Amino acid sequence: MSIPDGWINNQPPNTIMMTRRQAIKTTALASAAIATIPAALAQEGTGLKPPIAGALLDTAPAPFTLPPLPYDYDALEPFIDTETMHIHHDKHHAAYIANLNKALAEFPDQGNKSVEDLLKNLDAVPEKIRTAVRNNGGGHYNHSLFWQMMKPGGGGEPSGDLAKAIDSNFGNFSTLKEAFSKAALGQFGSGWAWLVLDGGNLKIAASPNQDTPLSSGQTPLLGLDVWEHAYYLKHQNKRVDYIAAWWNVTNWDFVASRFNPGSRPLAA
Ligand code: MN
Repeated sequence: MSIPDGWINNQPPNTIMMTRRQAIKTTALASAAIATIPAALAQEGTGLKPPIAGALLDTAPAPFTLPPLPYDYDALEPFIDTETMHIHHDKHHAAYIANLNKALAEFPDQGNKSVEDLLKNLDAVPEKIRTAVRNNGGGHYNHSLFWQMMKPGGGGEPSGDLAKAIDSNFGNFSTLKEAFSKAALGQFGSGWAWLVLDGGNLKIAASPNQDTPLSSGQTPLLGLDVWEHAYYLKHQNKRVDYIAAWWNVTNWDFVASRFNPGSRPLAA
């Protein structure tokens, strides 16, 4: 398979299908291109930056790096505030990556795995660093997805095959939204609410801490971070207000791309 450089044309390669070598090369190409890409190529008026290969899920092995946000820090205003985005991405997500790399440094053979590989089979991770990988690898993976699961001008409802599957599994979109919001509100303490693909069925799930559905054999399609760090600056104790605001930035194109792998790896 030749290496597509189509991310410039909003058609990045499906990283699931890529070898690590290809992923590393693509990421390197993207990093080189970011520095030179003219601002005019950014999607004017949308608040979105051109798709960046580094923002895709990292299929490269350790050391892991912080993927840039696929939009500006203030792009999700007024629903998600700028300061929260700065701290959440630059501090929290970065810390998960630093701690994951630190844990893996002790076991170089483990560092040859992608973060997905590590989380899909935590039992294969040495016991000494298993909890660190579960927490910090989960933090890296979940947040890498989370940034892409939102976009300025998002919200609304999904369409196409995903919409049909939602109707088939939940009856209609409103029921899904209600069940997902309930899971997000009901998660005690820190954690996530999820829409997952499980054996061909769509399901609502919740997980504590940074546990990811990937470790339970499920594919996370849409996730909402309900750690207080995700909303406390703007909403304080009112998680319910954060959840309501967040539905205005959901990136259904990205969710659909995960539901139909290969169709559209990164929504533009
Ligand atoms: Mn978070």
